[in-house]
Amino acid sequence: MQTPAAFEYERATSVEGAIASLRRLGSGARVIAGGHSLLPMMKLRLASPEHLIDINDLTDLAYIREEGGEVRIGALTRHVDLLRSELLAEHFPIFRDAETVIADPVVRNRGTIGGSLCQADAAEDLSAVCAALKAKVVLRGSEGERVVGMDEFHVGPYMTAVGEGELLTEVRIARRPGVGSAHEKVERRAGDWAIAAASAAVWIDGATIADAGVALAAVGLTTIDVSRAGELLRGKAPSEELFAQAGVLASEDCAPMADSRGPVDYKRHLAGVLATRALRRATARALHEEA
Ligand SMILES: Cc1cc2nc3c(=O)[nH]c(=O)nc-3n(C[C@H](O)[C@H](O)[C@H](O)COP(=O)(O)OP(=O)(O)OC[C@H]3O[C@@H](n4cnc5c(N)ncnc54)[C@H](O)[C@@H]3O)c2cc1C
Repeated sequence: MQTPAAFEYERATSVEGAIASLRRLGSGARVIAGGHSLLPMMKLRLASPEHLIDINDLTDLAYIREEGGEVRIGALTRHVDLLRSELLAEHFPIFRDAETVIADPVVRNRGTIGGSLCQADAAEDLSAVCAALKAKVVLRGSEGERVVGMDEFHVGPYMTAVGEGELLTEVRIARRPGVGSAHEKVERRAGDWAIAAASAAVWIDGATIADAGVALAAVGLTTIDVSRAGELLRGKAPSEELFAQAGVLASEDCAPMADSRGPVDYKRHLAGVLATRALRRATARALHEEA
């Protein structure tokens, strides 16, 4: 089946209007942003919303800026703008790493960070990036805003903490000193989804790792936050041996499935190798040893 089921369509002209429509229309309504995940699902009849609320005119949700000690990214910011952002390249080059290997220019020109996170596909690169960075998301509804950490945002495969009548409006990443971050991905060919991907962020204080985040994509039913790796790294001096140990934890804590991209053992091994590499590069960046 290559045509979606019939649906009603409306174009939101304000954030408040979109939220009011979501609330009025209830569970049969879905927001559409870039459409690069939702439309394929509708064509395959994996999703059949009765109403689509198009938020593409809400250009005040498209920005990347520094505010309140955080880098804030509006939900409608496109992949291409994350790729080109000098602010992100300076503070969180992990975004450029990821965006260089997400899909192709057609997808990157339309797909949004809000859509990527809300899709909650375990293979999404940006979900792993935001989990490693310990980002927070702002969810706005008719009652006001709430801020949810990435550790609580994905509640299951394709399921998020976004409630009925709520819109994800912003991603926030705290600016803490000594940060370095990197994303590593292996794909079958350019533009493909990951066989496995790993995101890492470290915050170095003096000679030790004050904090760290490691997250994996495409090796489980959801994005995998390897919290044991963070615990292992905290308070220790960075070393190759430590990164390798963290890689072993990543291998152990993932839950890949065999498919056309490879068998379980291969993906598990890859997750560990990529986590080690991402940590190595993140640390080099924190220590200004790598451009
Ligand atoms: C060929 C192809 C290859 C791809 N390869 C990759 C890849 O390698 N890595 C990767 O990470 N991604 C990949 N993607 C996915 C791409 O990144 C999509 O852009 C992204 O998954 C969804 O973003 P979107 O803006 O298109 O969301 P949409 O498709 O518009 O929406 C996705 C879901 O999020 C909801 N939603 C959207 N915005 C909001 C919001 N602000 N608040 C609440 N709910 C919202 C929608 O209702 C829907 O349920 C690929 C896509 C394609 C088509």
